[in-house]
Amino acid sequence: MSSRTVIRGGLVVTASDELHADVLIEDGRVAALAASGTPAAGAFAAERVIDATGKYVIPGGVDGHTHMEMPFGGTYAADTFETGTRAAAWGGTTTIVDFAIQGVGRSLREGLDAWHAKAEGNCAIDYGFHMIVSDVTGETLKEMDLLVEEGVTSFKQFMAYPGVFYSDDGQILRAMQRAAGNGGLIMMHAENGIAIDVLVEQALARGETDPRFHGEVRKALLEAEATHRAIRLAQVAGAPLYVVHVSATEAVAELTRARDEGLPVFGETCPQYLFLSTDNLAEPGFEGAKYVCSTPLRPEEHQAALWRGLRTNDLQVVSTDHCPFCFTGQKELGRGDFSKIPNGMPGVENRMDLLHQAVVDGHIGRRRWIEIACATPARMFGLYPKKGTIAPGADADIVVYDPHAEQVVSAETHHMNVDYSAYEGRRITGRVETVLSRGEPVVTEREYTGRKGHGVYTPRATCQYLN
Ligand SMILES: [Zn+2]
Repeated sequence: MSSRTVIRGGLVVTASDELHADVLIEDGRVAALAASGTPAAGAFAAERVIDATGKYVIPGGVDGHTHMEMPFGGTYAADTFETGTRAAAWGGTTTIVDFAIQGVGRSLREGLDAWHAKAEGNCAIDYGFHMIVSDVTGETLKEMDLLVEEGVTSFKQFMAYPGVFYSDDGQILRAMQRAAGNGGLIMMHAENGIAIDVLVEQALARGETDPRFHGEVRKALLEAEATHRAIRLAQVAGAPLYVVHVSATEAVAELTRARDEGLPVFGETCPQYLFLSTDNLAEPGFEGAKYVCSTPLRPEEHQAALWRGLRTNDLQVVSTDHCPFCFTGQKELGRGDFSKIPNGMPGVENRMDLLHQAVVDGHIGRRRWIEIACATPARMFGLYPKKGTIAPGADADIVVYDPHAEQVVSAETHHMNVDYSAYEGRRITGRVETVLSRGEPVVTEREYTGRKGHGVYTPRATCQYLN
């Protein structure tokens, strides 16, 4: 059955263009665009017409960093693939790339299979996987080649979390050398976890147990040092590098310096680092636990460096690192010992709106909003132009966005399976109105019309941002 939709009269915004155009969708893909009001647009015929007059028509968001139902610290991230992808859709995100995890002593294949099993048949929107490599062995390195071939083209390593996900410099170098050969992209959690663990132990011994000490021991300098080390290891290996959740001014400076040298290094930041700070971590009555994530929130003055990095393209991507833990029963595991607070924050539903607010506030331009939230993550992770833009042939993953609507963010009204919002009470201008995933309405004028199982696994090409 052929099904056609036309979206009429909106301002189509992509990373490269803005034009008043009608968009014709056929069989789940963008078939054509034509300037609104022209005979060409008038000739678009469809069973379903969406009036986008006065609205933006933007590509669905691509969130390249989520952790649905991830095991951490003896518990699991509270969003399943079902609830997390539904919430993503509500927030205008139509693709996530989540992280499958290799257990220590296990193969990459076992980890990947386990994540496929969690996601398959449960997602409201399309998804892909990165692979967390926590045990670099000869076998693991060979498996990396196979994964790249089947569409898992990026591998995350950790310089943090000794004894859990941690890789030493030799393991990192070996994985980078392998990636240099097979086209894979190494994603790095850049914090000096060995040094941080010493500072954690010393802080706890002094009786410094409150959530705010999480931010104090995970020092900006230790993020910068690890960022520098990762950059130089990648340089030695001849591999590109993508640094996840950059939060510190000093870490941005390392990326800027390397990029000025012409190295293929990229940086991601997240809304929590752009909009929140150590002031939140210091909220009284253990409330600060809501904001415990790693890298940690920084003092507010770091935000300016992140915004600048996003404007100058020293940072290329904003993703969420969505990894929600409920305040009650999960974050509470760390009462009396901040090191036992599960690390992670909710945000998959809030990213597109918060970044639109950044447009309203003048931090970034409208096309840059789409670039950092849709187009570049799609290119970085080999999904472009299927995802991340509105062009003939692209998947019809499209959001009708009302740039004038006012909303107040709250756990009372959000759709993430978590009992608090990190942005509770924040006023935002702009709101998602309608969301299509491959032409199917997932959200229709603020009503959920999606279904679990609509979203499919999407294998990825190698990084397209290098070309
Ligand atoms: Zn993460």
